Amino acid sequence: MRIPSQLCFLASLVLVIHAGPISQPSDKDEATHYLKSFYNLTDVTDETTAVRREAIQLTEKMKEMQKFFGFKVTGKLDKETMEMMKKPRCGVPDVAAYSTFEGKPKWQTNKLTYRILNYTPDMSVAEVDTSMEKALQVWAKVTPLKFTRIYSGTADIMISFGTRYHGDAYPFDGPQGTLAHAFAPSLAIGGDAHFDDDEFFTFRSSKGFVLFLVAAHEFGHSLGLSHSNVRGALMFPTYSFTDPNHFSLPSDDIRGIQSLYGKRPNRDRTPIQPDPEVPTTPNACDPNLILDAVTTLRGETMFFKDSFFWRRSPSRSVTQLPIKRFWLNAPNNIDAAYEDPVQDKLFFFKGRQVWAFNGINLVPGYPKTLSSFGLPSSVRKVSAAVHVKSSGKTLLFIDKVYYRCVKCYIYLYSGTNVYEFGLYSKKYLRELKNNFFLPC
Ligand SMILES: [Zn+2]
Ligand SMILES: [Zn+2]
Repeated sequence: MRIPSQLCFLASLVLVIHAGPISQPSDKDEATHYLKSFYNLTDVTDETTAVRREAIQLTEKMKEMQKFFGFKVTGKLDKETMEMMKKPRCGVPDVAAYSTFEGKPKWQTNKLTYRILNYTPDMSVAEVDTSMEKALQVWAKVTPLKFTRIYSGTADIMISFGTRYHGDAYPFDGPQGTLAHAFAPSLAIGGDAHFDDDEFFTFRSSKGFVLFLVAAHEFGHSLGLSHSNVRGALMFPTYSFTDPNHFSLPSDDIRGIQSLYGKRPNRDRTPIQPDPEVPTTPNACDPNLILDAVTTLRGETMFFKDSFFWRRSPSRSVTQLPIKRFWLNAPNNIDAAYEDPVQDKLFFFKGRQVWAFNGINLVPGYPKTLSSFGLPSSVRKVSAAVHVKSSGKTLLFIDKVYYRCVKCYIYLYSGTNVYEFGLYSKKYLRELKNNFFLPC
């Protein structure tokens, strides 16, 4: 008697699930997968009552999802529900009832660090750096939070790109579906943000997923916000394109983050200043770009600005990197640099000090003082240095100069312009912009 009644009950439930207008078995599988991923639907392993319990749980979880998105709560897999399940979205579940995670985890300090561990091939390094910085500033602008980028060691927010299994218990799913996920504040993996590199990420194009928008959402999780069911909120679980240049944080998200960290102090009195602790990535397209130094190095050309440099290979490909990633002991914001190709040494000047590197290694005995280069002690800094191979002499300048002996030109960097001279003809050839050799 027990078995037939159970079967009957089962049959009616299965009917309920398949009763919608799009009752394909594959839809049910897809829905089950979705609810397992985002609504904590669990596998039932107890054989005797397994199928019945699974069906009940599936209906309950479907209702939970419909409630979250503000749909009619039927427990049925209707068209509206199925369409929402197919949208590209964040990988963090929607089960939390409030805009914060259960237990309200938050950082106990307002000074947080972040580190970018690797890059997507879809965008330039500078574009990824800018997207991440801008995404963190979305939250910093409305709270007392400050973010500092670090380049080694463990940061509060470790940012990485990965595909499929990428070192945690939540593998990515290939193109579309889950775009990224992030972990609520805590030690170790807490705060970390992972991006599915099977997606195509973009700087601002609507073809692909704008990394800034995906990152700003994920950093909301890194700071303690869960999903919002307010449509248009940044913390809504699905992705929707907005031009990043016209993005402003919706009020629902502002209320959410301020419930955890409070408002930005003196917001009305003090205009929002860029935080001096946060190094900004120089932009090659900035019309006011003034480079700190330019030098050749083993056939490549290096353009220095603040704590970064652009590295231009003979094939003209350009990458932007932090100075410390190459030369751990080098200073930032250098005054001048030059290469001595005969000694295979690279020299950096800053203030009264000089550093010499062989490859990436600091030459023993450095940094030295300018006077050890034979300069009078009244010289407080040099603005440019050039080593002329043919004469074996090093010239120290007041304006920025960069010497390039392919066809032998001298480039004099002055303000935002560059003046090109022929080394042997001693003729002024043309005026260029500072970013002439950089991708913009
Ligand atoms: Zn999310
Ligand atoms: Zn992950």
